[in-house]
Amino acid sequence: MTLPSRYPLGQLPTPLIEASRLTRALRGPRILIKRDDLTGFGFGGNKVRGLEFYIADALARNADVIVTGAGPQSNHIRATASAARVAGLDIVAVMHESRPEETQGNLLLDELLGVELRFTDSPDRALVDAQIEETADELRRAGRRPYIVPRGGASSLGALGYVECVREMGAQLEAMGVRPDWLVLATGSCGTQAGLIAGAKIYSAPGRILGVTVSRPVSECVERIERIAREAAALAGHKIDLSPDDILVHDGYIGPGYGIPTPEGIEAIRLVARTEGTFFDPTYTGKGMAGLIGEIRAGRIGAGETVVFLHTGGEPGLFAHPEIVASAE
Ligand SMILES: *Cc1c(COP(=O)(O)O)cnc(C)c1O
Repeated sequence: MTLPSRYPLGQLPTPLIEASRLTRALRGPRILIKRDDLTGFGFGGNKVRGLEFYIADALARNADVIVTGAGPQSNHIRATASAARVAGLDIVAVMHESRPEETQGNLLLDELLGVELRFTDSPDRALVDAQIEETADELRRAGRRPYIVPRGGASSLGALGYVECVREMGAQLEAMGVRPDWLVLATGSCGTQAGLIAGAKIYSAPGRILGVTVSRPVSECVERIERIAREAAALAGHKIDLSPDDILVHDGYIGPGYGIPTPEGIEAIRLVARTEGTFFDPTYTGKGMAGLIGEIRAGRIGAGETVVFLHTGGEPGLFAHPEIVASAE
C-alpha cells in the first residue's frame, strides 16, 4: 500500500497504557488509554497525525501560507499553526465568534505562533468555511500561495492519520496480548472516527468503535463519517464496505452546546485526574469519557469487557475554563 507522503511531526507510536486505577474506580470494564495527547508536537493531540499529511501536501504544492479555521479555543488551529511554523509556512485562521476578552489556552498559543486571526463575529460555523475560501482568494490576489486545511482538519487526507493509528495500535495490542471489545473516543468534525473506521476495515478492528459526539447531531456525524471513511480508504488504495453497524455515534453528552462544560464532563475530568494523574479537557475528552461512563452505568458496556479510550488531547483548553474547578467541588 502506498500512502500519500507525510511530513514527520509526531512522536509515534504514542503510549497505550493500562488505566488500572480508573478501571477499579468504575468497577470494570478494563480500560486502557491510548495517549494521543502525547503525539508530541505543539502540545500534541489527535490533529498532529492528520497534519503530517496536510503539511506534506502543502509543501508538495509549493504553498507559502496555510489557511484554516474553527473556534477561538480550537486545538486544531493551534496544532495546525505549530505544524505550519516548523515547515516554514505562514498561517491565517478564521474563527467564529468575536475575539474573547481574555487571551487564554489555545488562543494564547496562537498568538505566540503569530497566527493571523480573523474573527467572523458570528456563531455560524458555515460562515467560517466561506471565509476560509474568501481569505484564500484574497491571498492569491496578493500573490501568495495559500493551502487550505479544512475546519477541524476533517477530510480524507487528514483521516489517513487515524487509518495509520489503527495499524500502530494493532501492533501494541498484539504485543500486550489485549483484544479490546470497544474503542471509545470524542467525535467533533468526524475525521478521527472516520479514519479509525477505515483503518479497522483495512487492518484489524480495535474493537467496536464508538464515538461520543461533542457538537454535531448524530445523523450529521454518521453521514460525514461514512463519506470521509470511504474516501480515506480509497486514498490508501482500498475499497471498503460500510454497514450502519460500523458507524456508532452516541449523543446525550453535548450538554448546552459545543465547548460548554457539563457536570458529567467535569466529573469525568476529575475522576481521570485523581485516578490516573492524567488530564482531560472539558470540550472533547471529558465529554467523551462521560459518554463511556454513561455506557458503563447503563450496562451497555459490561464489567467483563475491555475498552480502549482514545485520549485525543486538548489539555490547553483547560486553562480557558477556570470555572470548572469552582463549579463541581
Ligand atoms: C478535534 C478534537 C477531537 C475530535 O476530532 P474530530 O476528528 O474533529 O472528530 C477530539 N478531541 C480533541 C482534543 C480535539 O482537539
